[in-house]
Amino acid sequence: MVQKKNLQHIFFDLDDTIWDFEKNSERILSKLFDEQGLAQKLQNDFYTYFTAYKKKNGELWQLYNTKKISKDELRKRRFHETFLQFGYNDFDLSYFISECYIQQAPYGTELKKGSIELLDTLSANYKLHVITNGFKEVQHIKLAQCDLQKYFDNVIISEDVGHNKPNIEIFKEAERLGNTTKEACLMIGDNFEADIEGAKKAGWQTIWYNPQKSKRFQTTQVHCLTEIVTHFKT
Ligand SMILES: [Mg+2]
Repeated sequence: MVQKKNLQHIFFDLDDTIWDFEKNSERILSKLFDEQGLAQKLQNDFYTYFTAYKKKNGELWQLYNTKKISKDELRKRRFHETFLQFGYNDFDLSYFISECYIQQAPYGTELKKGSIELLDTLSANYKLHVITNGFKEVQHIKLAQCDLQKYFDNVIISEDVGHNKPNIEIFKEAERLGNTTKEACLMIGDNFEADIEGAKKAGWQTIWYNPQKSKRFQTTQVHCLTEIVTHFKT
């Protein structure tokens, strides 16, 4: 149960917590797959390609979150290395797809089920904010496209702060921007390492959004967003 006594600020991760990154990505990647004739080039269907891309992208994001690779490297490698897994080597095409994807994906408007109801409910009693490791040129587009800006006092983007979640510094910066202290803060996000471990280290309360029902970690968690309000009942 959430300790509500001092709680004033609720911080949300954006990608795959509110904005449905997976669905929005799939739509654009499927369009680019068809436009660029990748079925023939990779000798595979879209879902095999999409599954391989998601795995590769996840691995590279892990490296980016921990500052082991740069944003540019992440962008250059994720499609190229996916292509290579299918024995297809065309860096220029992979980079072109990467650029098209970055330009088009943020215009997706699929949100996680229950997110608007949750934001409506929590915004009645708390100040809401976003903390995201996403790229700054796309995160504001997503929020505007989905009319989400009205819910959030601060949108804290790791690129602006210079530190990614789970680095404690981004949580400290969030406290500073909210003019508050750790006792008043709670983080909700889908990435256990980045969102939950990071916020816990900063001394915040946390709720792990765990739709995959992973049993890897024992912590306050929900499997769907609509469950979150039950943690706020007294
Ligand atoms: Mg996320």
